[in-house]
Amino acid sequence: MVSDLNFFTVEETQPEENPFFRKRIGILGGTFNPPHVGHLNIAQQAGHQLGLDQVFFMPDAEPPHIDAKPSIPSKHRKKMVEQSIKGNDLFALETIELERGGKSYTVDTMKELTEKNPDTDYYFIIGADMVEYLPKWERMEELLLYVHFVGVGRPGYQGESAYPIIWVDCPSLDISSTSLRKMVQAGQSIRYLVSESVEEYIEKEGLYLD
Ligand code: ATP
Ligand code: MG
Repeated sequence: MVSDLNFFTVEETQPEENPFFRKRIGILGGTFNPPHVGHLNIAQQAGHQLGLDQVFFMPDAEPPHIDAKPSIPSKHRKKMVEQSIKGNDLFALETIELERGGKSYTVDTMKELTEKNPDTDYYFIIGADMVEYLPKWERMEELLLYVHFVGVGRPGYQGESAYPIIWVDCPSLDISSTSLRKMVQAGQSIRYLVSESVEEYIEKEGLYLD
């Protein structure tokens, strides 16, 4: 006998086929000059704790006005990011700002990504130093339409903000690209502070020696 219950059987569907399904994507923007374990640490913790589908590392073509520091050609930074994220399925590379070239405002980038991917919610990951900078970011009110900000602590910064921030608790690593550049220049070892392939790349290309 066929049970009436069969009439209520719901066919199994993939989550992507559900019209209400939304992807949850993290974006870690930066200059990555060079990428280091501090970046990998915050991307992993934010991605895992917030259950993100993926975290995209998004190198800028040129550092923004608010964080102007001399940089090296973007081809090197792109290569080092690729090497850093290799082997972690959660991580991927977003090259939209490299392709556009020049200085990009995050609000323009995120507007473009949101229009291209209307089924995606974006989580923009920033360290506490950047949280403090947010009032100086271009068209912040508009940017808040496109992203949720995710904040992670950074030694030396309070990260207080009037903007809505999702704080992620994360082991704190007192390391920056600035300190690594200085270490390379001073002939100190950066082993274990960057991935092995990045350490080799910096040495092979003779980066940060002057
Ligand atoms: P630089 O010293 O050249 O500014 P950086 O280490 O700050 O380099 P960026 O590429 O500027 O690296 O940073 C990209 C993002 O990663 C920023 O939001 C920054 O706050 C965050 N970040 C970098 N290092 C850390 C860290 N050790 N702890 C927490 N957040 C970090
Ligand atoms: Mg920085």
